[in-house]
Amino acid sequence: MSSAITVAGVRVDTRHWIGGERVASAGTFTDHSPIDGGVLGEIARGGPAEAEAAVAAARAAFPAWAATPRAERARILHAIADGVDKRVEELAIVETTDNGALLRSHRHGVMPRVAHNFRFFADWLLKLDHEDFETRGHTNHVTWDPAGPCVLITPWNAPLMLATWKVAPALAAGNTVVLKPAEWSPLTASLLADIAAEAGLPAGVLNVVQGYGSEIGDALTSHPDVRRISFTGSVPTAKRIAASAAANLTPLSLELGGKSPLLVFADADLDLAVDLAVEQFDNAGQVCLAATRILVEETVAEEFTRRFTEKAGTLKQGDPRDEATDIGPNIHPRQLEKIDGFVQRAVAAGARTVVGGHRRDGQYYAPTLLTDVDQDAEIVQEEVFGPVLTLQTFADEEEAVRLANGTRFALAATVATGDPERAERVTGRLVAGTVWVNCFFVRDLRAPFGGSRLSGVGREGGTWSFDFYCDVKNTVTAPGGWRDH
Ligand code: NAD
Repeated sequence: MSSAITVAGVRVDTRHWIGGERVASAGTFTDHSPIDGGVLGEIARGGPAEAEAAVAAARAAFPAWAATPRAERARILHAIADGVDKRVEELAIVETTDNGALLRSHRHGVMPRVAHNFRFFADWLLKLDHEDFETRGHTNHVTWDPAGPCVLITPWNAPLMLATWKVAPALAAGNTVVLKPAEWSPLTASLLADIAAEAGLPAGVLNVVQGYGSEIGDALTSHPDVRRISFTGSVPTAKRIAASAAANLTPLSLELGGKSPLLVFADADLDLAVDLAVEQFDNAGQVCLAATRILVEETVAEEFTRRFTEKAGTLKQGDPRDEATDIGPNIHPRQLEKIDGFVQRAVAAGARTVVGGHRRDGQYYAPTLLTDVDQDAEIVQEEVFGPVLTLQTFADEEEAVRLANGTRFALAATVATGDPERAERVTGRLVAGTVWVNCFFVRDLRAPFGGSRLSGVGREGGTWSFDFYCDVKNTVTAPGGWRDH
């Protein structure tokens, strides 16, 4: 196996990064670009041996990194952010070539945000301090201690963005990391390893292992030296990881799928509501937060559908490297088959296709809206993870809330209304980790992110990330401090 490939002019090392060294595996897997299905290269295919080596490296590096003064840890995280900023163009084109999401959003939004993730948690680290409480003269001294080696497992839909949401707070808190990116989009994690090394992150503090989750995953998640597991991905994988982590009761953070609703009330600005609905086709629908269930008050459903159809017809689908493209390809032929299977079964069960409903040449799926669907239909209950929306109508607020809350997921919800009192009433009753009113996708990193029910366990962001990646300790000292014994 060659040790590196060139993707859109950028050199990417295809080996693991363990203990500050590039490490090959006997086997490889082939990485394809979803843009045209072309082969990008052969990537190291890790298994239990590489998992063991990476956890050992993280364990060996832990004491020194945990003891590194906070200001120094923060300085290195800022240096990583500088490295990301310098390489935004390279990271953007490699990510787009690897996972098919739009170059313009990688370039202008995602990669700058990756740098921000490091800066944000570096700055937070400097604010994080102890807290003292006094009880009957005893001092309770509360500290946030680093937990140890962390295993971070990430999906392909927003590879570097989601990885750095985990890597940045884990490192800031003084932990060491083994990152396992998804096998359908392995490349930017390797570039991150280069950037971190250039920024002066000591060897073994960040390790990156590549491979199929089914081959390397269990050895990572069942390892007794691993102190935290943070996972973003699908529900079936989360259940396997939870079972594996149970061997050591390793604390878990799980960010999983969604089937979020967009509630459109008759008093909403309908053009805004249509914009919000069409925005759900972003990243070809491969967004965990996507509001894929559109719920419209019946008195405006016809007009909403007319305007939605008109707007959807203006979307340009094609090469994600083209700045004018609105919708790119789906990640993998298997994902495309899965999407089409959902749509065909829905249609066979009586759904009506308002727009789309079919594949296009290559790995592209036409943006799709289906209506005449029941609440208990598969297409309403299961995450498709493609550019497929459903439309249901409701008679009143009561029914809107019932439909909105009526799945096993609870990640996000969006409400379009012109009535502030209604917004307050409805948002208060929605079961979701994030609720947007007349907007979508905006989030301050200080705010929590995550879901409940099948959408996950725990929250990421701000204080929630630090609480997860730290062992919080209370040291109680006797009145008057030290005594002679
Ligand atoms: P996936 O579960 O198939 O894979 C995610 C990661 O888990 C990959 O790195 C994979 O290699 C690894 N993995 C697979 N089997 C494993 C095992 N047995 N042990 C350890 N690791 C294993 O998910 P995906 O298809 O890559 O991503 C899509 C899913 O992710 C969707 O359900 C989507 O909603 C969800 N997602 C959630 C969020 C969120 O923040 N809530 C964000 C993005 C994506």
